[in-house]
Amino acid sequence: MKNKLALILPLALAAAVVPLAVGQKRGPGKNADKIAPSLPEKAFAKPKQKRKLLVFSRTTGFRHGSIPTGLTAVAMMGEKTGAFEAVISDDLANFESDKINQFDGILFLNTTGDPFLEKGKPGTQERSQRLQKNLQDFVKGGKGFAGFHSATDTLKPGGGHTPEYSKMINGAFDGHPWGGGSSVSIAVEKGQEKHPIVAHLDGKNMDFKEEIYQLRDPYDSKAVHMLLRLDLDRSEKKNLKRTDRDYGVAWVRKWGDGRVFYCSLGHNDAMYWHPDVLKVYLGGIQYALGDFDVPSK
Ligand SMILES: [Zn+2]
Repeated sequence: MKNKLALILPLALAAAVVPLAVGQKRGPGKNADKIAPSLPEKAFAKPKQKRKLLVFSRTTGFRHGSIPTGLTAVAMMGEKTGAFEAVISDDLANFESDKINQFDGILFLNTTGDPFLEKGKPGTQERSQRLQKNLQDFVKGGKGFAGFHSATDTLKPGGGHTPEYSKMINGAFDGHPWGGGSSVSIAVEKGQEKHPIVAHLDGKNMDFKEEIYQLRDPYDSKAVHMLLRLDLDRSEKKNLKRTDRDYGVAWVRKWGDGRVFYCSLGHNDAMYWHPDVLKVYLGGIQYALGDFDVPSK
């Protein structure tokens, strides 16, 4: 029995940790072969100190198939550029007050619902409230937060209550008129052509197939430093809820003494090996970590 277990266990573990093991050195993750040649050559800014980025992708709603690819891309990007060490973990204990401050920044990569809830567990609501507060204290106290794609489909307003999280990230998912197979065109926000996080685009649009979100309150494109937005005239025509045609895609903002970056791209796997998108992610993460001093508000 012992020998049999010894044989089976490593296999079972290997299966469980695909694509990435938690907090340890790992083999190539999902789509690493496609991601590797697309990674930025170097960091935008030299980190002021060694940076630890918690990459969290827990879901209690829809779970994106692109999560393993996204985790691989972020881990490889941090390692190659030296901008940060990615700690990939969905362990809620990392948000407790005795653990959270070991990190310089936290990335919500395609989280959904209330990712702090554990169904059926006693006291889970209270714990979620506590961890949400810890996250707020963490960012407002001077650290960084980044969100990709369904990070806005996370901790959304409901029942007359708007979570601080939703205000911080600036909006809540309100459907995606453009599904993952839609041809869309993403424009650099007018006047931001030279902004360091999007300057590599040279003011040109990015055209690809991707799912694009429509956001609702507390979304306010004037409350943040907008960097990218959907070019409605050059994207597939859809029925839209927003009469103001305000479809922001990526922004930075200050939050208390800390910094926030959000990019709604990240539904399709291919986003994580698109060289220009990866650069936007890297610049935004480095801003959040406090190493990339760029215009923000
Ligand atoms: Zn999606």
